[in-house]
Amino acid sequence: MKRSLPGVSWKAIGVLALVTAFLAAITCYALVSKRRSGAGENAPPERAARAVFETRYLLCGCVVVEERELEGGKIDVLSASGAPVWQLAGAREGLQCFFRVVNDYCPEHSRFRLITLKDGVVAVYRGKRAVEGFLLKSYPELQEGLMTPGTKQALTTGVLVEGDPREVDHTVKLYLEGIID
Ligand SMILES: [Zn+2]
Repeated sequence: MKRSLPGVSWKAIGVLALVTAFLAAITCYALVSKRRSGAGENAPPERAARAVFETRYLLCGCVVVEERELEGGKIDVLSASGAPVWQLAGAREGLQCFFRVVNDYCPEHSRFRLITLKDGVVAVYRGKRAVEGFLLKSYPELQEGLMTPGTKQALTTGVLVEGDPREVDHTVKLYLEGIID
């Protein structure tokens, strides 16, 4: 008994030491966890991921470049809706750059029409400006000499019509019908 008692004691001390070390480890882990979560609460929110998006419209040749946030921080979210797929083109000034090619007119050339005067008659252009390649139609029967001064002045400045691409030409037609009484 005398000889085995110290052995039991040493065993007990060993177990106690292990338990102490284990408790210390748990306490340490808890402290670190608390500090981490505390730091997370006080830290400013992370900047949302941004990227450059470049779209080339084949029917008018326009290139539209915009910088915006990646939805959900991922690019694949953007291409899930059936829209033309974005492709990674590289990096520009530290931002990822994606591009796509669309077989259509750009928003400006699909949504806007300019009604103005060209060579003394009414002319309708696709887009916001009277650019030769975007002349849709000229109307020889709608001569400026037959218009009221107010209409002539408005058309000299240019009347801009905006609308849904499927309806904007109909809006233009209605306007033209009202030019000459
Ligand atoms: Zn365009």
